[in-house]
Amino acid sequence: IMEIRLENVNKTFKNGKRVVEALKNINIKINDGEFFGVLGPSGAGKTTLMRVIAGLETPTTGSVYFDNNVVARDNKNIVDVEDRNIGMVFQTWGLYPHLSVYDNIAFPLRVKRWSEDEIKKRIYEITDILNIRNTINLKPGQISGGQQQRVALCRALVKNPTILILDEPFSNLDAVIKDSARELAREIHNRDTITTLIVSHDPADIFSLADRAAVINHGVMEQLAEPLEIYDNP
Ligand code: ADP
Ligand code: ADP
Repeated sequence: IMEIRLENVNKTFKNGKRVVEALKNINIKINDGEFFGVLGPSGAGKTTLMRVIAGLETPTTGSVYFDNNVVARDNKNIVDVEDRNIGMVFQTWGLYPHLSVYDNIAFPLRVKRWSEDEIKKRIYEITDILNIRNTINLKPGQISGGQQQRVALCRALVKNPTILILDEPFSNLDAVIKDSARELAREIHNRDTITTLIVSHDPADIFSLADRAAVINHGVMEQLAEPLEIYDNP
């Protein structure tokens, strides 16, 4: 569980001569154990915001705090990505196609030099929870989209992260699976009382899951409220 605070965060990218202000003076406090949504159209800055929190980008100016400890400030990461204990799932899931489900999920643990015995124990545990134990010897291309999404979730959760970032995690799922995927996300969040961030351009994801949500447009945070309030004041 972790409180996340952004203070006057700006992020600019230079594309040749063009300067893109992807985030403009963002101030947010995300509470311990909150399910927090980020809503906005394509190009609004949602992914950039998640990457700044994860440490994959630095804020050009401004600061990011986890539990009142500064993790990034003014273009410098003070705590690196690997030390932030964040699990991430992206729209494309990013599974390694040539590796088995087992080896995909083992990957972050092998990076951390866990023993193979510990890895096996943890993989059996997490694949039981997400109900994909019977797929562990298959490759991602041999299982369904819904199962691939669970594999991506397993890989994100295998290290017991304190923060879970879901960036458009349901976009590649058909409508029927989408509902059960949302239910699963809610279950995981409640089970581990993890601080969870979900990015979506689909309001239905936010309304069904988030305690509060930020609406971002052209890098500016236009609203920060409970989903129903946002719905009433679009
Ligand atoms: P969203 O996730 O809401 O679709 P992004 O955060 O991906 O938006 O992008 C916000 C803006 O920043 C866009 O104009 C995008 O082109 C730009 N941008 C994002 N990442 C980079 C990058 N690495 N280099 C240059 N421009 C970028
Ligand atoms: P989404 O719309 O799902 O947020 P994008 O396609 O905007 O995803 O971005 C995917 C990745 O490409 C991100 O890591 C982002 O930082 C990077 N990116 C986005 N726009 C640009 C850009 N103009 N130049 C370089 N990298 C970019």
